[in-house]
Amino acid sequence: MTTDVTTAKEILGIYQPGSTHMVGDGFPVRNLFPSNDLDRSVDPFLMLDYAGPQHFSATDHSRGVGEHPHRGFETVTIMYDGAVAHRDSAGNSGVIGSGDVQWMTAASGVVHEELHETQWAKQGGTFQAIQLWVNLPQAQKMSAPRYQTLLDADIPAVALEHGAGRLRVIAGTFQGQKGPARTFTPVELYDLQLEAGARVELTLPEGQSTSVFVLQGRLSVNGAKSAGEAELVVLKRQGSLVVLEVEQESRILIMSGKAIDEPIARYGPFVMNTKAELVQAVEDYQAGRMGHLS
Ligand code: MN
Repeated sequence: MTTDVTTAKEILGIYQPGSTHMVGDGFPVRNLFPSNDLDRSVDPFLMLDYAGPQHFSATDHSRGVGEHPHRGFETVTIMYDGAVAHRDSAGNSGVIGSGDVQWMTAASGVVHEELHETQWAKQGGTFQAIQLWVNLPQAQKMSAPRYQTLLDADIPAVALEHGAGRLRVIAGTFQGQKGPARTFTPVELYDLQLEAGARVELTLPEGQSTSVFVLQGRLSVNGAKSAGEAELVVLKRQGSLVVLEVEQESRILIMSGKAIDEPIARYGPFVMNTKAELVQAVEDYQAGRMGHLS
């Protein structure tokens, strides 16, 4: 007799972008959360912005977001098309292009800028990226900032069985391949390209908050009605099995993480545990204690 304890995760809901706006003058985003009030369903994730795909004409102007702070969490920028240059008050800087990921741990606080990279902007082109915010446990919210540039070449790509497509492991593990991101709580972050007609079964760590974001294409998750461009399928925590049935060639992002389950207090670019900590964050920023760009 075989014992199979793998249970399929139930669908909590399928969500369309809850808001559409420009971030600075460089990032035309569709927001999936927090605009959809998903709250604890996506814990440890705090925010998901899908930028583009949008064509930008050639310019000498630096489009993007100028100096601004963050405290209490991590910002993860996944580039699909285009290039972003980043600089922060902890002295880190870098450029990420197609296939690269920047994993910035703001923790106790940084001030940074995120701009279209100069040479890319001079030529123009299609810009497509995701920014995901990952919360930090209380114990790490005031730890030192850090910065990880995860280059395309360092992100393992696993060929899926039966020519179903490929899966890039940004964080966590898939079929023994470990993603390069160092995380504070267990996170699986996968970038998938899937062929029409494919059926893919994934087993994620039991009990995580899991969601599937569709950048392009159309597919069904665990037998629900299918989801298309810019839709987010949110699964319930219980269970571990995710089955994808691909109707049209698709590009998707799977986010799964162990919920932190601590109080969340948020105000713009600061996410802490209490209101008093938010007041402190604003004071510290205004007093220059998160530094400045040189
Ligand atoms: Mn930022």
